[in-house]
Amino acid sequence: MKSLIHMGPRHLKYGDCKEPRISPGQVLIEVAACGICGTDLHVYNGLPAKWPVPGIRGHEFAGNVLAWADDVQGFQDGDRVVVQPLVYCGQCRFCRSGQSNLCSNMYLIGGEQPGGFAERVAVPASSLFKLPANLSLKQAALIETLATSVHAFERNLSGILRSAAVLGAGAQGLFAVQLARLAGAKLIAVSEVAPHRLAMAQKLGATHVINAGQEHVVEAMLALTDGEGVDLVIEAAGKAVTRQQATQLLRPGGTAIFLALGAEPTPIDFMSVVPRELHLRGTQCYTDADFTLAIELLANGEIACDPLMTEMPLEEGAAAFESLASNPGEAIKVILEP
Ligand SMILES: [Zn+2]
Ligand SMILES: [Zn+2]
Repeated sequence: MKSLIHMGPRHLKYGDCKEPRISPGQVLIEVAACGICGTDLHVYNGLPAKWPVPGIRGHEFAGNVLAWADDVQGFQDGDRVVVQPLVYCGQCRFCRSGQSNLCSNMYLIGGEQPGGFAERVAVPASSLFKLPANLSLKQAALIETLATSVHAFERNLSGILRSAAVLGAGAQGLFAVQLARLAGAKLIAVSEVAPHRLAMAQKLGATHVINAGQEHVVEAMLALTDGEGVDLVIEAAGKAVTRQQATQLLRPGGTAIFLALGAEPTPIDFMSVVPRELHLRGTQCYTDADFTLAIELLANGEIACDPLMTEMPLEEGAAAFESLASNPGEAIKVILEP
């Protein structure tokens, strides 16, 4: 079968590889669409990961059921499914306390195990969610990204949300804008350097957009709340400067959620954090409950994903990665189709 194989830093090869074999408990999926994640890009750029090289990446994918192991039940030929790629053990103390996203023994399909940048892939039956009829397989490739934002909101939000700031308007930030709107925020301010992403944020519910390359983000955002600051900041850029802005933009008692990964060390002024009782929260992936809610939100049309998608054939995957790494242009979420 054809696949896109990660050979090493900035080196992907499209070509033939061995067919996957179905082990006990597994289902064989014919991949229809697989998104390129920021994490895939980090690893493509050479960020050290525990993932094998050469290896097949891609953890944001959906497709059709082709076959299953003898011990698997409940599937039919052609079932449309999305993969929840974070495989957890179900036994460790975190899994047993409902925090499977923090599992001590987890691995990622498309990370430690072969993923969706291929025509076919075998995955645990327990990782599959069947899709509602009104969600396409392409749209389903966005579920994983949305589930990450859903988790950030579900875990960290309590009470009524009135104001939010979103720093960075990639796919994650643009979902956060829509979730902030769903959560009730009347003021949603977004900062970003790319003008087309700011325009998209506005289309999807941002009430104010700030070009971080031209304006002073903290001054401009604080002016929107008479200097008080916002209830919630979603940091979706992963830079030292945006992390620092996050703490400066909060009202006393407010919550900053750090969604984006990024290796840059970040000095934070704790003289502003401690006496103002700021909540600084990290967030990691999603649980099955977040995945279920993400599917519902997309299927009901409460969250839009179509404007975020750029489709390309898997065959052009190497070029897609290279252009995302050097000059992403207008693309927000690239979906590769085998
Ligand atoms: Zn991802
Ligand atoms: Zn576990």
